[in-house]
Amino acid sequence: MQVVVVGAGVGGLCAAIRLRAAGHDVTVFERNPVVGGKLAALRKGGYTFDLGPTLFTMPHLFDDVFRVAGSSLAAQVQMTRLDPQFRYRWADGSTLDVPNDRERTLDRVEAFSPDDGDSWMDFEYHAQQIWEVAERTFLAGTVRSPWTLVARSKNPLDLDRIEGKRTLHRLAQAYFDDRRLQQLVGRYATYSGSSPYRAPGTLSCIFHIEQEYGCWHLHGGVAVLAERLATTARRIGVDLRLGVDVGRVATSRGSISGVDLADGGRQPADVVVSDVDAEHLYTDLLPDSKRRKRITKMGRSMSAFVMCAAVRGRTEGVAHHNVFFSLDDEQEFDDLAKGRPATDPTVYACVSSVTDPSMAPTDAENWVFLVNAPADTGIDRKLMSAAVLNRVAERGIDLRDRIEFTRTLLPADIDARYRAPGGAIYGTSSNGRTAAFRRPSNVGPVDGLFLVGGSTHPGGGLPLVATGAHIVADLVG
Ligand SMILES: Cc1cc2nc3c(=O)[nH]c(=O)nc-3n(C[C@H](O)[C@H](O)[C@H](O)COP(=O)(O)OP(=O)(O)OC[C@H]3O[C@@H](n4cnc5c(N)ncnc54)[C@H](O)[C@@H]3O)c2cc1C
Repeated sequence: MQVVVVGAGVGGLCAAIRLRAAGHDVTVFERNPVVGGKLAALRKGGYTFDLGPTLFTMPHLFDDVFRVAGSSLAAQVQMTRLDPQFRYRWADGSTLDVPNDRERTLDRVEAFSPDDGDSWMDFEYHAQQIWEVAERTFLAGTVRSPWTLVARSKNPLDLDRIEGKRTLHRLAQAYFDDRRLQQLVGRYATYSGSSPYRAPGTLSCIFHIEQEYGCWHLHGGVAVLAERLATTARRIGVDLRLGVDVGRVATSRGSISGVDLADGGRQPADVVVSDVDAEHLYTDLLPDSKRRKRITKMGRSMSAFVMCAAVRGRTEGVAHHNVFFSLDDEQEFDDLAKGRPATDPTVYACVSSVTDPSMAPTDAENWVFLVNAPADTGIDRKLMSAAVLNRVAERGIDLRDRIEFTRTLLPADIDARYRAPGGAIYGTSSNGRTAAFRRPSNVGPVDGLFLVGGSTHPGGGLPLVATGAHIVADLVG
């Protein structure tokens, strides 16, 4: 079959490789001059900054994609499993390192909050059970409604176990009295651009995933993965065309007939796999007011303020992944829910030069800061940059005199670069019990149209997007 993939984000590239390996003729159109979409890098003055994903987990999912094409992840990229995985800092000066193995993690937690060692282990066991159910139900194929999960369940208790009813915050409260640990767990909601006060406890499975599969650095930066996927796709015969904007998905009598390019050309196809944001698809490429309304009604996931800072010298006490928590996360997520940047934000910072010297010049560091921000929000670059550096200084790391240059990404830039409406990183929000089932379907409204990528099932983030590409490749056959 002739397959056209619209968009060379991670979902588009993984789907293209799988479909080509299955014997189809595959053409990918990407409007940007580079592949990867949100999996992007900035290289300047000897520094490399990951502008999108900085955290890589579940490497086996990508290994599987490369293996389909006769290679492997290890053959494509040099990888380091991070230890510690994260360094968390709170306003009261306390710090918690989460090491790469459970035994040492337990020691650290017990030293940090003596009554919570058992709770930590119990919580991880619970998160593991949620993951086990989610993997064989929610992630095992496309999902049309909660009934799909019922059909895939082994027993009726499965759906209770998945913690769809309690919010992530309530679940954290049930396990931990220590507010700091509740805050640590709540942060996992932001991995899908959501709030722990509104998103389901199901997201606690990420807690287990990080412990089980590790947090990894890819040498040269996580964005190297996009380049390797593209090279692999081309090697097996995918026709990957950059700088080509698709203007329309063309149909004939309710079936796909191809795509119309914005420059006037046409590419015939039996199947179109859309890796663009579903809102862009149903607004511009295949206008569908019913589907578009459904998407807007769900609300957008969060966006972010990203700041890359080239920093001279070396910083004491910095890890690869660092989190500087806000004083009051309830207030923080309340601000975000009201559509304004938090007055007291949590700041995440990735300093990958700690692990990989190739990411920065000698005696320098590549800081990438990320602060959650509502989609569609205007942010003042200068004010927010200063606020981030001040926050980190308040928590004991003052970089302000050592900055060589900074570059920032606002929600509006995320929108413009990747055509992510409002700058929403993960499409529709995962807030609410049923949000996961109401994401735009992998199966489009016309025969031969399929959706991959972070705005469709099963959701955003590299592991889910890779899983979605697998699901769609199976649907195409
Ligand atoms: C700041 C930030 C931090 C993140 N951090 C992490 C992290 O640490 N870990 C993690 O796992 N995930 C993270 N993510 C999420 C992850 O990057 C995304 O979920 C994933 O990369 C999305 O892939 P996708 O397949 O949806 O494609 P996208 O990245 O959305 O790419 C879609 C592509 O389609 C192209 N396109 C759009 N319209 C058209 C058209 N009409 N014609 C042709 N091409 C078109 C766009 O140019 C783009 O290249 C982060 C994202 C951001 C922005």
